[in-house]
Amino acid sequence: MALKFRLKGLAETFVDTITCPCCGTIGSDDQNFSTEFTKVTYEGIVVVVQCRSCSEIFVPCTQRLGILDYKALRVAVEKDSVDSGQAILTGWEAVRLSAEKLNAQRKGAMH
Ligand SMILES: [Zn+2]
Repeated sequence: MALKFRLKGLAETFVDTITCPCCGTIGSDDQNFSTEFTKVTYEGIVVVVQCRSCSEIFVPCTQRLGILDYKALRVAVEKDSVDSGQAILTGWEAVRLSAEKLNAQRKGAMH
């Protein structure tokens, strides 16, 4: 079963089988991967996963982003940024960079 993320009427993303680039764990649901770092951007929902066995954080490229309502999505992303006080992530690339940063922090914290 593929993972499905949905913001009602705004956007949806489907994720096929995920392979961890670090330890090679393969999974297609949240048994092997946690998805708590998933972000909503102007380009849709970008799923960020964390491997449950080695804790690697990454953006799987096996996801398909769909946007149902560009305008409303944009408004929701901006509102979310105001509510959370976090900077807006414009799209895939911004999320990938933030995942890399999370990973670096995580690895730095281990030492
Ligand atoms: Zn892993």
